[in-house]
Amino acid sequence: MAVNSFETLKKVIEENSQAGEFYRAVHEWTVTAVEEDPLQEGECVCGQQHLRYMYTIQNLYTGRPLEYIGSKCVEHFQSSELNLQVNVFRGLFDLRKKILAGEKIFLDEDFSREILRWLYENEAFSANQYNGNNGLNDYQFLLDMFNKRHKDRITQGQENKIWALLQYSVKPFVRDHPALG
Ligand SMILES: [Zn+2]
Repeated sequence: MAVNSFETLKKVIEENSQAGEFYRAVHEWTVTAVEEDPLQEGECVCGQQHLRYMYTIQNLYTGRPLEYIGSKCVEHFQSSELNLQVNVFRGLFDLRKKILAGEKIFLDEDFSREILRWLYENEAFSANQYNGNNGLNDYQFLLDMFNKRHKDRITQGQENKIWALLQYSVKPFVRDHPALG
């Protein structure tokens, strides 16, 4: 990253944060959305051009969003939490792309623990008669299945339940979510 891009990034973040110093200010931010520019014409707040994946970040104190920021620039925040969030949004973006293309999605290939947690926290699993009126049960079930070391021990009944949750809860939620592209 060019020195003046980093200076611009620092300045923009400091100007939009409560804390005046960059490395303290970075903790005020969370990733809230991702978009793709297939022509790679996106521009970062630091002035860097030709972004393909453009992230929106939001200040936790002021609620003010800032767009766009490139994934490489997020790395300059040196925040493992923000880097994780970028990975989650990128994973969700790729998942949505497969759903829109009508491709099959798989719990063990297209998800991560963090993606499942994001889905739960964003209320992808609504309460219904199948989960005892508590979406937490669906989240915990999928997490248990994801964490299983021996996938061949997943029963047919569990396979059916995974399929139903992906089909009827996850797919429409991710497909229609406004923050995912
Ligand atoms: Zn940048």
